[in-house]
Amino acid sequence: MAAKRKVCFTGPMHVTVAEDILRGAGCELVMGKPQDDFRHFKYERKELVNLVGDCPIIYPSGRDMIGADILDSCPELQAVVKSSIGIETVDVEAATELGILCCNSPTPENYLGVAEATVGFMVALFKRLKLNEDFIRQGGWKELHNRGTLMLGRTVGIIGVGRIGKNVAQRLSGWGMNLLGYDPYVKQDAVANLGIKMVSLDELLNQSDVVTLHVVLTKETRGMISMRELKLMKPAAFIINTSRGPAIKEAELVQALNDKIIAGAALDVFESEPMPANTALRQIDPLRLILTPHNIGANPGSGEAGQKMAAQSMLAILEGKVPETVVNPDAIPLWKERFYS
Ligand code: NAD
Repeated sequence: MAAKRKVCFTGPMHVTVAEDILRGAGCELVMGKPQDDFRHFKYERKELVNLVGDCPIIYPSGRDMIGADILDSCPELQAVVKSSIGIETVDVEAATELGILCCNSPTPENYLGVAEATVGFMVALFKRLKLNEDFIRQGGWKELHNRGTLMLGRTVGIIGVGRIGKNVAQRLSGWGMNLLGYDPYVKQDAVANLGIKMVSLDELLNQSDVVTLHVVLTKETRGMISMRELKLMKPAAFIINTSRGPAIKEAELVQALNDKIIAGAALDVFESEPMPANTALRQIDPLRLILTPHNIGANPGSGEAGQKMAAQSMLAILEGKVPETVVNPDAIPLWKERFYS
């Protein structure tokens, strides 16, 4: 039986590409509380379940959690489709058990934007860009102790060697840097052509001059960088996180930066987003910590491309087809049995 052409937008955004494509394809859209205007809004469970109603698809904004309690209470729900790469705000495990498809939208505009930004962070940290910029604004000039580091011959540790991790490595090829990788799901053979040497996490932390995180957020990766790991790093090393904030225990990073256990950090993602006004990160010497508001990889085409990919996934699902963007293929047999047999 064909699905109702109805999609629930839990938090419509200012960029309306997905909306426009779906309306153009004759879909009915159920609109929740706009995300860009109400960033801190939280739905009550009942309110969200009522909003979803009989929609076969939820298109959640980054603000809204789609937990087991929601998935379980929407009997006509076939899929949850996100316009981003990260899908940790959806309980994918619960969805899989219910035969509900979960899709993300890994567009090149998004993952290459983050890979480029990561290299930018590295250059800024090694070259002491913020420190020198601040110095000249204060009326200073070049000083021996403000010199940066030659990146040639330094070691980059990539934690999470997926799309973004690999593209960081690819962008650094030709820079004469040593590339180490840690990812329990990636074999050495798969990345040898990128010049990455796969090692244990402790070895990577121990040997790298800059550590960069590109993991998906899971039970395993949440809090994977704590004081123990930070203490394994060299005192002159930097850490970069453009993946997901909770991969690093933020309070322990604050302490490591304040106690000069490591030299500096660049963060685009945080344990709580938008970053609260009173977070201790704001008090750290800005010359050793670069902060960007989860937008360093974004570019004028990235939001639009993600929404377009998401809309295409949704239209495929509404026609009973499995899109390539499904992240829980184990859900497919039950999805077919429940909705298309
Ligand atoms: P990906 O799925 O291609 O790669 C993630 C990698 O993490 C995989 O290779 C996986 O094997 C690895 N991984 C899983 N568990 C691990 C563990 N315990 N230890 C080490 N590695 C582990 O994802 P991607 O497209 O490369 O995205 C990486 C991250 O960047 C995601 O968290 C995504 O949400 C985030 N992201 C952030 C932004 C931003 O704006 N800052 C934009 C896009 C993506």
